[in-house]
Amino acid sequence: MRTVSRLRPFGTTIFAEMSALAIEHSAVNLGQGFPDTDGPSSMLEAAQRAIAEGHNQYPPGIGIPELRHAVARHQLHHYGLDYDPDSEILITVGATEAIAGSVVGLVEPGHEVIMVEPYYDSYAATVAMAGGVRRTVPLIADGDGFRLDRSRLAEAFTPNTALIMVNTPHNPTGTVLSDDDLAEIAALCVEHDVIAVTDEVYEHLLFDGRVQRPLATFPGMRQRTLRISSAAKTFNCTGWKVGWVSGPADLVAAARSAKQFMSYVGSGPFQPAVAHALDNEMAWVHTSSAELATKRDLLSTALQDAGFGVHRSEAGYFVCADPRPLGYDDGAEFCRMLPERIGVAAVPVSAFVDDVEPWRHMIRFAFSKREDVIAEAARRLRHL
Ligand SMILES: *Cc1c(COP(=O)(O)O)cnc(C)c1O
Repeated sequence: MRTVSRLRPFGTTIFAEMSALAIEHSAVNLGQGFPDTDGPSSMLEAAQRAIAEGHNQYPPGIGIPELRHAVARHQLHHYGLDYDPDSEILITVGATEAIAGSVVGLVEPGHEVIMVEPYYDSYAATVAMAGGVRRTVPLIADGDGFRLDRSRLAEAFTPNTALIMVNTPHNPTGTVLSDDDLAEIAALCVEHDVIAVTDEVYEHLLFDGRVQRPLATFPGMRQRTLRISSAAKTFNCTGWKVGWVSGPADLVAAARSAKQFMSYVGSGPFQPAVAHALDNEMAWVHTSSAELATKRDLLSTALQDAGFGVHRSEAGYFVCADPRPLGYDDGAEFCRMLPERIGVAAVPVSAFVDDVEPWRHMIRFAFSKREDVIAEAARRLRHL
């Protein structure tokens, strides 16, 4: 093993293992959360045009002006958040690089980063690369949904805290953090003078009339929040890797100082296409989000009928299920068996936590797939 010790815990991802099993057993793969249909055709055509018209060299380090202006307009329109496109917005290689740039640019070795668990898998590895120390605060069950463990949240803030990472809507649970939970995070950040890095890549995929309330809109938070989003989930283009981070100029400059030596720039011809989509294709996004809600219903019902305990999914791509009523209390073991047994693949939530015990049983299924794919998975789940 030649990998440095700080990255050794992150060697092989659960997705690789489960996707290999899915292929081996021709399973319907509801493990990985990418969509299996394309985004709006005018956006795809804009990218083709950009290539044909010669947008094939390094774009500016902070991103092309059309996209920075579109990102600024978008946030002003949806949330009343006013960012200067020249100093307060940075285009990145997906949300992933926005997260990495923010953490590496703002966390000194040995300083602490608070994250909510379960957490998106890149967070822990990124904090390790920065030499930071992660402190996790769990979500806890609340009826059929989840909320923050607020007493654990308050305890997690120390004089050594550099920043808190907040992901809402949340992957893997599909939770939209309540206004009360967000207000509590905001109050603690202000009290302890801590920066918030918010991952809002599912900001437009909320169901049942729920609305996104960015943490940056809470009192005292505009000046201490780096707000991250991406085209990947909004416009079904996970392979394009176009993301952005918005915030006060000094925080964006910190993220930029790291980002410029990670990739420098990326996704040149995709940047004008995403700018076009932000300005012109939000109706497509609303339809896509409504279709996702329908697929969430189909899959949740199928899981219930198969005998799982099913958690409420309020947004995004995923629903979490509890196989204990079926007689299984180890989600990882269950997921290793599922492709061969019935031809469906999922991932265990225990892969996304430090404290495994409360999450040992839980399984994440993606519903960001074509309706016929969900229907086939539903048919197979009946064999359980
Ligand atoms: C998919 C995802 C990302 C990564 O977004 P990219 O733009 O593809 O880098 C980040 N955070 C969460 C919670 C995600 O689900």
